[in-house]
Amino acid sequence: MAPSDPTARAPVPPTPGAANPGGAPARILVVGGGGRENALGWGLARCPGVETVWIAPGNGGTQGLPGCQVLAIAESDGESLAAACRERAIELVVVGPETPLAAGLADQLRREGLAVFGPGADGARLEASKQWAKALMVEAGIPTAGYWSAASCQEALEILERLNRPLVVKADGLAAGKGVTVATSVEETRAAIEEVFDGRFGAAGASLVLEEPLSGPEVSVFALTDGRSLVLLPPAQDHKRIGEGDTGPNTGGMGAYAPAPLLDAAGLEAVRRRVLEPTLAALRSRGIDYRGVIYAGLMLTASGPQVIEFNCRFGDPECETLMPLLGPELAAVLLACARGNLAAAPALAIAPRCSACVIAAAAGYPGEVRRGDTIHSAVEPDANLQLFHAGSRREGDGRCVTAGGRVLAVVAQADDFDAAFEDAYAALTKVSYEGITYRRDIGHQVRRPPSRLPA
Ligand code: AMP
Repeated sequence: MAPSDPTARAPVPPTPGAANPGGAPARILVVGGGGRENALGWGLARCPGVETVWIAPGNGGTQGLPGCQVLAIAESDGESLAAACRERAIELVVVGPETPLAAGLADQLRREGLAVFGPGADGARLEASKQWAKALMVEAGIPTAGYWSAASCQEALEILERLNRPLVVKADGLAAGKGVTVATSVEETRAAIEEVFDGRFGAAGASLVLEEPLSGPEVSVFALTDGRSLVLLPPAQDHKRIGEGDTGPNTGGMGAYAPAPLLDAAGLEAVRRRVLEPTLAALRSRGIDYRGVIYAGLMLTASGPQVIEFNCRFGDPECETLMPLLGPELAAVLLACARGNLAAAPALAIAPRCSACVIAAAAGYPGEVRRGDTIHSAVEPDANLQLFHAGSRREGDGRCVTAGGRVLAVVAQADDFDAAFEDAYAALTKVSYEGITYRRDIGHQVRRPPSRLPA
């Protein structure tokens, strides 16, 4: 990303929202083009006071979201995004994906005087460097697996030889969810180490972390923060594997549900005290003013929750799952986080309902996928049902076609998970494209098996 020269730019004009720290911003830019960003745009556009949400670059479904507009600018093009913000007097920028955050997009936009929800490159290291995140966790006393860092293949193999037991191997940098191997033998650990250093992860594989294996169910906790205070969202669980029964290769996520009953209110409070507050304090002690989402991937082990990873943004599809549960204060809360005054924001209402999300992928996912197939949908979204687009594209003739691995997210809310998943799956039958692929067992942990459902 080209560095910007703030002195060469006209100052951002004062905006109506700027006079009212508790109020919602009228004009918002969401950066990113996935299902997560469409869900963010949808969730923000429905907040009172919000007039327009632009999504850059968006996708084939963006224009169909009430109150949302596509802005054809790449998430890596900071200069053009800044110019678009000036032209539209944008009051809040929400950066969805980790790559532009790690590359310093939030820093660049803040230098332009914009209010940005998303950490700078310094805070994004929580996700962009596993070594950095592990060192921070250990210093802050945050429960996490024991680890060793290695900057060369030889160093890593020497550690393995000394320990002589299977370890978890993690490429240090951003590897699109593909940089982790949970090895079950010393041989597999060795092969995974060699793979990291063979260059397949590019700069992300210049060094690695070896970790003690943990076991237990996994749950994700999302906190919105202005660098000092935290608002916790309901815990969510996703399904990473492509196959039913949680089998087969890892994906970006085939579905999710929230709130995950694995972590009750007391458990969530414990995570706040033992994980999130110490993390914020450790970031501050490094001089990092972190404004955005802290996503803690936790494993609930026999000795309590342990942090498996931190991410610096919403999960996808957890974001699609959570947005419908969040109240109309969302836009004001994100703006307050961006301005560093979350304490002055209205309380964020969270609906006490069950939210179920099922991803429809393209044939071949997570490998090479079919593209360009026309998407047909007779889904009629309502207050309890949403259809978010992810890997889709609008053609010149108006057709919406598949354009990626994960194509759509269908999300439904109800009073219990059986009803929510039933509604989500019923909606999925109204969507079609060549090669549509989805798991039928999303949420199996919280659904009654069919034999126990009333006839
Ligand atoms: P990460 O990218 O660090 O979240 O790792 C991806 C996945 O690998 C996690 O969701 C876990 O399922 C698994 N994993 C990561 N670290 C460990 C660990 N120390 N022990 C067992 N499984 C792990």
